[in-house]
Amino acid sequence: MLNSYLLEMEDRDLFYNVTQKVNAYKKEHPDESVISLGIGDVSRPVVAPVIEAMHRAVDDLASSATFHGYGAYYGCDFLRQAILDNEYGKYGFTMDEIYVSDGTKSDSTNILELFDINSKILIGNPTYPIYRDGARALSRKTYYGKNDENFKMLIPQEHYDIIYLCSPNNPIGNAYTKEEYEAWIDNALKNNAVLLVDNVYRPFIQSENVPDSIYELPGSKKVAIEFRSFSKQVSFTGVRCSYYVLPDEIAENVNHYWRKRTINRFNGACYVAQRGAEASFAPEAQKLIRENIRYYQENARVLREGFLKAGFSLIGGIDAPYMWVKTKDGMSAWEMFDVFLKEMNIIIIPGVIFGEQGEGHFRISALGNIDLSRQAIERIVKYYEK
Ligand code: PLP
Repeated sequence: MLNSYLLEMEDRDLFYNVTQKVNAYKKEHPDESVISLGIGDVSRPVVAPVIEAMHRAVDDLASSATFHGYGAYYGCDFLRQAILDNEYGKYGFTMDEIYVSDGTKSDSTNILELFDINSKILIGNPTYPIYRDGARALSRKTYYGKNDENFKMLIPQEHYDIIYLCSPNNPIGNAYTKEEYEAWIDNALKNNAVLLVDNVYRPFIQSENVPDSIYELPGSKKVAIEFRSFSKQVSFTGVRCSYYVLPDEIAENVNHYWRKRTINRFNGACYVAQRGAEASFAPEAQKLIRENIRYYQENARVLREGFLKAGFSLIGGIDAPYMWVKTKDGMSAWEMFDVFLKEMNIIIIPGVIFGEQGEGHFRISALGNIDLSRQAIERIVKYYEK
């Protein structure tokens, strides 16, 4: 018998309808230049010191003295040590609490294997859709939360065992402040809940009051598992390498059990990717990576100011590379999508793709090319001047 939860899953990538519509439009209008403000992938290349480290790692594989094969189920020690030295050691973690993997897309749902299959799981709405469909693939049911006026999920009245927090947030583009994190931690401690904190957009944080990590806050080690990825910070969306922290304090012997599970379910992340990830922490690489992030932040500024100039209201774009924009004239998200595509030759992502509470909104991304963003803004401002 098949997994019945698979039947409830979307048939295709959620962006499929967008791609279909865009391709049909391009076919009918081959001479139009269509600009995408929808891209969730990075556009800056991998920086040179990281590329060089990966070249050296490939060479390691060519000699039996330096060859790397099976064995590093939780990640190579050199990378886990670098993660501790640069990011998590300051919160008092040890290497046994750090796991290296092949992407937060899989990590954020695979972690559910740590918990009882009947755990009640709360996710945002709108949300990064993988939390829902990834949970379904593992035969788990999720429930949607409610939001405040800034689309931040409200602390629920009922009990949930597992709560996904995405901060900085995709698709909304905002992030939890210190006080908001404190309230979630307090609630989780009282209700014996676990917070799964997706922190992949951390490098984009600019606001003073937005913590870099939930572990900056007291009590968090008892309730929070935090996920990070090299995807956005090192442009590793195609290379694949991620990491997460499972604090010893979550439950007695938790890392003993999770190591057991990991040995049986995962053969480790790619050695070449891990050498590249390690090299990304070196000062020269960090300097170049910061330049890439600043490029996206500048792109976000251009888009934010442009959309505001054209009379839209929006949130996000300061602490994350996404902005969440309200449609105009009471249009639905898909109606607005059509106006952008057909009238301005611009692709936006309808908010409903991320959950039905995203109706009446759309997402734009600052991960693309800044010159194209400027051209898009010119078109948008001109169109709404009419
Ligand atoms: N988490 C969020 C919130 C994302 O938006 C994305 C990618 O867009 C991911 C995780 C995927 O990360 P990775 O490339 O490490 O699998």
